Amino acid sequence: MKRFKLILISAYLVVALAVQGQESPRVKYAFLFIGDGMGISQISLTQAYLASLEKEIGMTSLTFTGFPVTGLMQTHSNNKLITCSASAGTAMATGFKTDNGRISVSPDKSEIYTTIAEKAKQQGMRIGLVTSVSIDHATPAVFYAHQPSRNMYFEIGYQLATSNFDYFAGGGFKEPVKQLNGKEVNLLTLAEDNGFIIMNDVQEFKALNKTREKVLMLSPKTASGASLPYAIDAGPGDVSLLDYTAKGIELLEGPEGFFMMVEGGKIDWAGHANDAATTVHEMLAFDEAIAMAVDFYKNHPEETIIVVTSDHETGGLSLGNRVMQYETNPAILQHQKASVEKFTLLVRTIREKKSGDIKRDFKKFLKLLEANLGLNSKTNNTLLDEAELEMLKEVMAESIYKDANDTGGYPDYKPLAAAALELVSQKAGIAWGSGAHTYVDVPVFAIGAGAEAFSGMYDNTELPKKLEILMGID
Ligand SMILES: [Zn+2]
Repeated sequence: MKRFKLILISAYLVVALAVQGQESPRVKYAFLFIGDGMGISQISLTQAYLASLEKEIGMTSLTFTGFPVTGLMQTHSNNKLITCSASAGTAMATGFKTDNGRISVSPDKSEIYTTIAEKAKQQGMRIGLVTSVSIDHATPAVFYAHQPSRNMYFEIGYQLATSNFDYFAGGGFKEPVKQLNGKEVNLLTLAEDNGFIIMNDVQEFKALNKTREKVLMLSPKTASGASLPYAIDAGPGDVSLLDYTAKGIELLEGPEGFFMMVEGGKIDWAGHANDAATTVHEMLAFDEAIAMAVDFYKNHPEETIIVVTSDHETGGLSLGNRVMQYETNPAILQHQKASVEKFTLLVRTIREKKSGDIKRDFKKFLKLLEANLGLNSKTNNTLLDEAELEMLKEVMAESIYKDANDTGGYPDYKPLAAAALELVSQKAGIAWGSGAHTYVDVPVFAIGAGAEAFSGMYDNTELPKKLEILMGID
């Protein structure tokens, strides 16, 4: 019986090798798009929103939701059902589960897990890592760094500065300088010494010609520190995920092929803040970047794979809530013109310049509310009732007239801004069940050579293995 099994296995191997040899679908250009915090409900909300702008009930397809192959992926980490971006990223970059907080090392920190990007580089491919948050944040970090904690920003940045990857683009470093053995080490200097062209001017970056040099682009500082501005707040002079992706393709394309990871990192931040309209705009910005890759794919259909997925859901977003029940109105999100972050800064000005007359300050607040969130407006059909106005006034008394502390966590949002955003979500007919991540399986969308491999339901540790087979990595 044992022998029979052996023969069977050998026969299977011969066939498998023959099939592999026959097809050898080596993908030359691999894109991995990770929407951080993008659950299926974030996707549905964005599609329902687009449909609602056309006064339709239903879903308007995004670029990636039109991909021919879809799958579902399980996201739990080694030690928690609800993962963080570090452990989910490690799974997707290395094929190993680890504990929450770890950056491509084993749960007990003793073992370094080699990443798909490192393997692709060893094979001679060029590597690009792109994100809308800081470049040392968990999701990009798992592809180039190995650290016991995602919070070791300097150590992570050090591994970036000394890496041989070809293209990094994101926000800045969270901890660019540190004293090491009594000597100050600056990551930018270190990266420059290691051959990186460092840029942070948007126009210069856009004008950068194709080069074989390594490039590190760090966006100019925004209110939220080392990250791109939220898409909803961005102005014409700002750089976008689309710009980063387009430049990446331009710089990396060549006979060696490339692996490029692009993270839509602030879908997660908007989820933590329970900010629906900002979520939608981040999703649209992410989709625009993907469309860029699809254009490239159309010129290289036999050699390109594009995979779009997520690390986890953030915010426990659902379409439907207790108040509205079967009614939804995602179209009202179009009237929101500022993210929670920007709105909070505006609310802060009221706090700083408070007159002592709460009625007067509340009027000021209502003006901000209408102009920035589209609430309490006759034209938008979003007039607030007595109870809602009273609720906001109470929160204002608590948070502006007493000295309420920040809620902490990801974005710096204050109770009054949060209460106002909750009303926006409620009227849009959606709800949030958490200010953190949740467990739901995340979707996978794929197009290109070998895309079929991504259909079905599997664990997130399978994702890099599937990609590696296509890319011809041993
Ligand atoms: Zn998060």
